[in-house]
Amino acid sequence: MKYTFACKDIGLDCGFKTDAKTKEELMPKIAAHAKEKHGMDTIPPDVMKKVQAAIKEKKGLL
Ligand SMILES: [Zn+2]
Repeated sequence: MKYTFACKDIGLDCGFKTDAKTKEELMPKIAAHAKEKHGMDTIPPDVMKKVQAAIKEKKGLL
């Protein structure tokens, strides 16, 4: 199983994509990117909802 996230999936004009084996590993990567590129020191709850909804699970081998 693999979890992927892309900024464009929450409507941002940004080419960032990331993936990880677990959501727990994925969230810090998204948070670090949001801080660095989008100026979000913390991700607001409404954005976090969109992020959670945009995370895709991919089954199978990496
Ligand atoms: Zn982005």
